[in-house]
Amino acid sequence: MIIGSGPAGYTAAIYAARADLKPVLYTGMEAGGQLTQTTEVDNFPGYPNGITGPEMMEDFRKQAERFGTDVRFGYVSSVDFSSLPHKVVVDEAKTITADTVIISTGATAKWLGLPSEQQYNGFGVSACAVCDGFFFKGQDVAIVGAGDTAAEEATYLAKLCNKVYMLVRRDEFRASKAMVHRVLNTPNIEVIYNTEAKEVLGNGKNVTGLRIINNQTSEESDLAVEGFFVAIGHKPNTEIFKGWLEMDETGYLKTIPGTTKTNIEGVFACGDVQDHYYRQAVTAAGSGCMAALDAERYLAAKEDEVKVGV
Ligand code: NDP
Repeated sequence: MIIGSGPAGYTAAIYAARADLKPVLYTGMEAGGQLTQTTEVDNFPGYPNGITGPEMMEDFRKQAERFGTDVRFGYVSSVDFSSLPHKVVVDEAKTITADTVIISTGATAKWLGLPSEQQYNGFGVSACAVCDGFFFKGQDVAIVGAGDTAAEEATYLAKLCNKVYMLVRRDEFRASKAMVHRVLNTPNIEVIYNTEAKEVLGNGKNVTGLRIINNQTSEESDLAVEGFFVAIGHKPNTEIFKGWLEMDETGYLKTIPGTTKTNIEGVFACGDVQDHYYRQAVTAAGSGCMAALDAERYLAAKEDEVKVGV
């Protein structure tokens, strides 16, 4: 059973189905995952002319179904990994058993919660500089956040863009000293402290600016920018696995390095749910392939055990 329908889940499904493991994949509430929230995807190999995120996820789904994956719309509401086979409850109603479970529930970008931020999401507003920075080549952009992600993304954007305004809500960064040093030594990044985004400004189609507010003086002003990047952290979708699977302090699933194995036999994790560092569609897909191979080898070893009566 595969939980989640982003690049990791569908890639695991393609491999598992081709290996005749008869995978059932539950899509979750956001079928297709985070990529359905983006517009153009230019960095996934195999699409020389680029593709939209939703179209790409349709292709993933079709490819998984072509080999017999049973794709079902529904969300997993709880799990019971206390004994084999594993039990998974779908839509708080139906219990399904599975010899192996591949978890690819992803992570969700945190947003500020401004209505205008959602209105322009994909049209100038983005939660991924590596994915979307290219579209703002030579332009002025703003980024909010003061952690390592924001610092890294600001320096990434600075290489592509003319000017990067960086909004830090306190008078200091949360990011590591080395990252802050890089930010402060990049000439085209302007850090604006004690400042928050109040509203994304636009012309109905694209972003044209950002209204900011100084949280010490309440003074408001506008920045003329074409892009606005939100880098205030991600939340891994791991709530239902609490108490079963080992997680790091921020809730990401722990896997045995170099594998997708979790601390529970027959349960594997791939994609952003176990990776807060790379977070790319292609790395998620790669780890989905690993999870299917790990599951296949696990099942083959189990079968051998049965044959020799272990
Ligand atoms: P973090 O949780 O570390 O940082 C989130 C940042 O967003 C904080 O600076 C926070 O401000 C700010 N923020 C949160 N909500 C708002 C808001 N509503 N308005 C304005 N600002 C807001 O998340 P990251 O994604 O940066 O990092 C996650 C983890 O990944 C960390 O452990 C990090 O070290 C690690 N990481 C490591 C990297 C590396 O080693 N190269 C690269 C990227 C991530 P405040 O500080 O005021 O709370």
